[in-house]
Amino acid sequence: MDNFLLSVIVPVYNEENNVKPLLNRILPAIKKYNYEVIFVDDGSTDKTPGLIKQAAAKNQNVKMISFNRNFGHQMALSAGYEAARGDAVATIDADLQDPPEIIAKMVDKWQKGAKIVYGKRQERQGENFFKTGTATLFYKLMNFLSDTPIPNEVGDFRLIDKKVVIYLNALKERPSFLRGLVAWSGFPTEYVYFKRDKRLTGETHYGFFKMLNFALDGIMSFSTKPLRLATYFGFVSASLGFLGIIYEVFKKVLYPESFVTGWIGIFVAVIFLGGIQLMTIGIIGEYIGKIYKEIQNRPKFLIKEKINL
Ligand code: UDP
Ligand code: MG
Repeated sequence: MDNFLLSVIVPVYNEENNVKPLLNRILPAIKKYNYEVIFVDDGSTDKTPGLIKQAAAKNQNVKMISFNRNFGHQMALSAGYEAARGDAVATIDADLQDPPEIIAKMVDKWQKGAKIVYGKRQERQGENFFKTGTATLFYKLMNFLSDTPIPNEVGDFRLIDKKVVIYLNALKERPSFLRGLVAWSGFPTEYVYFKRDKRLTGETHYGFFKMLNFALDGIMSFSTKPLRLATYFGFVSASLGFLGIIYEVFKKVLYPESFVTGWIGIFVAVIFLGGIQLMTIGIIGEYIGKIYKEIQNRPKFLIKEKINL
C-alpha cells in the first residue's frame, strides 16, 4: 500500500519552546507521506496552543484538539487516537526525546506487515541513573506481576495500524496505561531501536510521585496478582502463628517451670502483622478505587476546541 494516510499524535502540555523545533523536524521527516499531525493540547497554560494555531493556519495537515484542563498524558493520547484518521498512527513526545526520523523506519516495518511497531530505547541521554534505574525496576516488577508481557524499554513512542486504533477506541475502560493495552492486544509486533535524546527544553512532567502513581496504575490495571500475594502473606503468617501456638502449648506441658519472657517478640509481631494488614487493605482499596472510577464513568476528557478537524 503506497497511498496511505499517516497520523502523528503529539500530546503537549506547556511545551511552548518545543512546538516550533518539533514541527521543523517532524514535517521534513514525514512530508513524503500523506500525513496529519494532531497536537493534543492537554490544558496548557502557556503559549503552546497559540503557536500550534499559527502553524495550523499555514498548514491544513497540522491539527489540534484542546482540552478544557489538564487531563493527563494518557488521556491526551487517547483523544488523539479517537481523532486520528490514518491507516497508520504514530505517537511521539513533544520534547524531541523521540527522534521524528524514526517514524519512517516504523512505517517501513508496518508496510512489511507489523501492526504494532515500538520504538525501543537503546540508550537514554540526559536521564539520570535514578530515572533509568527505577524504569528498569518497574518493568521487572510489572512483568513479574502482570499476565500480559509488557515490553521492556518501550514507552509511548510507537506506530500502530488502524486495526489496533479501532480496538483501542472500542475499549470501555479508562486507558490509564495505554502501552499495556496495546501489548495486551497481541497484534504482530516489531521494534525499531533508537537513542533517546535529552529533552530539548523544559522539565519532565513525570517526577518521582507521578512515575510511582503511573507504575501503580499500570500494575493494577493489568494484574490481580497483588490481591493473590496478599492472600499468600495472610496464609503464611497465620500458619506461623499456628505453629507458635502449638510450640507454646507443648512447652507449657513439658517444661511448666520455664519462665515467660519474649515481650519484644510480641511487639515485633504486632507491628509486622499490623503493617501487613494495612498493606493488604491498601491493595484491596486500590482495586475498589479503580472499580469506583469505572462505575462513575465520567468522560475521559472534555474538549474545548478543535482546529482543522
Ligand atoms: N504531557 C501531557 N500531559 C501531561 C504531562 C505530559 O500531554 O499531563 C505530554 C508532554 O508535553 C510530552 C509528553 O506528554 O509531550 C511526555 O511528557 P514528559 O516529556 O514530561 O515525560 P517523560 O518523557 O519525562 O517521561
Ligand atoms: Mg519527555
